[in-house]
Amino acid sequence: MVVLGDASAAPNPLPLDGTPAHLDIGHWSEAVDHADTVAAALLGQEDPGDAPVPSFWSDQFGMRIRSVGLPQLGDLTRVHEHDPERHRLEVSYHRGRRVVGALTVNRTSRLAAHRERISREWRRSAQPRSPDRADLPPR
Ligand SMILES: Cc1cc2nc3c(=O)[nH]c(=O)nc-3n(C[C@H](O)[C@H](O)[C@H](O)COP(=O)(O)OP(=O)(O)OC[C@H]3O[C@@H](n4cnc5c(N)ncnc54)[C@H](O)[C@@H]3O)c2cc1C
Repeated sequence: MVVLGDASAAPNPLPLDGTPAHLDIGHWSEAVDHADTVAAALLGQEDPGDAPVPSFWSDQFGMRIRSVGLPQLGDLTRVHEHDPERHRLEVSYHRGRRVVGALTVNRTSRLAAHRERISREWRRSAQPRSPDRADLPPR
């Protein structure tokens, strides 16, 4: 059986100390981004390459919420901006010395810098992307 998207818990691409082996990410982008990996696995082909860093956006009550990376892995939160009157928020999430995620509300312009930094960290630390092959038949 091959599973992706919300029905799956993908191997944690950033298995830093104290983080779970699998993550239930639950973003639209995850379902789409993992499709080529799963297709390659089914066809017995090499993994097509690095997945983009997870991200989501959502519009709620006139506010644009955006996230990049894996904030749930953070053990330290840095608030860069918190402006309740203008409904603005910019937060980054860290584990040890690494930035693992960021979240903005009505501050989309700030996300690109976080994404770039997280992508750099990601490339440095991420495990190669591959499905859990334990249950796949031998080739
Ligand atoms: C209220 C809500 C708001 C969300 N907002 C956001 C957001 O703002 N941004 C974001 O990135 N993500 C958001 N998500 C998460 C996002 O919707 C999911 O991560 C994404 O849809 C997962 O895609 P999927 O294909 O894995 O599953 P789904 O999109 O759930 O697709 C599964 C499909 O399988 C069908 N199905 C189920 N059982 C069977 C069966 N037995 N036989 C045949 N078909 C079946 C279902 O009807 C469904 O069409 C939200 C989720 C919810 C519930």
